Amino acid sequence: MREIKLYKLEHFLKDAPSMSDLVLSEVSQSDIDDYSEEFQELTKQMSLDDDVMRECASTMREEVNFYWGDYEKQSKYIERMLRNEPNRVSDHYSQYTNPRTITRSVERAKEKVSNLGVVSATTGIGEKSVEDIDLAILFLMNEGFVFGTDFNAHNAVDIAKAKASENVVEGKMDNFEISSRACEECHKIASQPTSGFLKSRELMCECGSEHFEMKMSFGNEGKVFLKEVGE
Ligand SMILES: [Zn+2]
Repeated sequence: MREIKLYKLEHFLKDAPSMSDLVLSEVSQSDIDDYSEEFQELTKQMSLDDDVMRECASTMREEVNFYWGDYEKQSKYIERMLRNEPNRVSDHYSQYTNPRTITRSVERAKEKVSNLGVVSATTGIGEKSVEDIDLAILFLMNEGFVFGTDFNAHNAVDIAKAKASENVVEGKMDNFEISSRACEECHKIASQPTSGFLKSRELMCECGSEHFEMKMSFGNEGKVFLKEVGE
């Protein structure tokens, strides 16, 4: 029975082309080595699938030539398709990026991200806030903002806070860490935005009887911390 495998990669680096620089910059050499290993297996399977397709093309040629004759326009048309058009096998395997290309993207991403520290350090903002600025920049890049276009080192913290506040109001809080006192009524900590959150940054507990004034800061990997003022 004739079959093609259309082998699939499972390794997370198969999605490298759509990863942000921030994520790529965290990729290690051993990740790349593992990917290369899987990619080698992919290449092996691809070559087997290619053999099946070559055989199929050759049979098709014979049949077409037998049916219409070698130099008839139908046979020439099929011949052109066979030579120039991708088939199911080449289509499938072309979605995967080879390890060399991924290595280069990772190197470039590491360089870019390490330059971020330099950028904010050279803008004349006090030493103490340089790390805050870098973390705000990382948060914004994680959100798809472009350095230099959407924000710069001077406004990164303000824009990051505005964007993170928007996320709170929209309920996108997967990467948030919240800490506050517990409400005396429902015994829950702050969890929901108040109606004035965008201006006041006040959260409330589940029952709504207590409001908490929150301070926002940023951590690694796009993390956002909301901490009750005075806690
Ligand atoms: Zn409560």
